[in-house]
Amino acid sequence: MLDVSTATRNPGTRYVYDVEQAIAPQNVCGELVRFDSAHLTGSYEAMENGDVEVEGRLTVHAHARCANCLKDGSAFVEADYRELFQREGDPEDDEIFTYTGHVVDLEKLAMSYAVMHLPMRFLCKPDCQGYVQYLDEEDPDTCQKELTGQHPFAALQQLLSQSGADQE
Ligand SMILES: [Zn+2]
Repeated sequence: MLDVSTATRNPGTRYVYDVEQAIAPQNVCGELVRFDSAHLTGSYEAMENGDVEVEGRLTVHAHARCANCLKDGSAFVEADYRELFQREGDPEDDEIFTYTGHVVDLEKLAMSYAVMHLPMRFLCKPDCQGYVQYLDEEDPDTCQKELTGQHPFAALQQLLSQSGADQE
C-alpha cells in the first residue's frame, strides 16, 4: 500500500517507497504456486490528472513442486516494472491498474509481475535428476512457452485461466 496523498498534492515530484506486499497463492498452469512476502522498492510520482506512475523492482521467493521429483521447489523471482495507476479507472477492468482515495494497492501489480516472471519450472535443487513424471495435459513448459510476445495482461490471464474452478 502506498499513501499517495502528498504526491497527488505535488504532481511531478518523485517519492521513494520500500514496502512488503503479500501475494495470495496462485494456480499457474495447473500448479499451485505460493509466495513469500514480496519486497517492492522504487519511486512514484503523481500526474496533473491524479494518475500515479509507480516504478520499481520486485523481489520474492516463490514455492511450487519440483518439476522432476515433485518435492518442494522454490525460485527467486525479480522483476522491474513501471505502471500507471489511474485514479478514475474502472476497478473491474482487468487490463489497467486503478486506485481510489489516497491509497495505491500494490497487490495486483505484485501478483502480476511475480507470476509473469516465474521460471519455466521449479526445481528442488539445481541438479535434481528425480524421476521425470509428466502429465501431458498439465505440462508447464507448454503452457508458458505459448506466452512469448503476448500483451502482459493477456499472458497473465492465460497463465491463470485454469485457476477459476478450484481457487478459493
Ligand atoms: Zn527435485
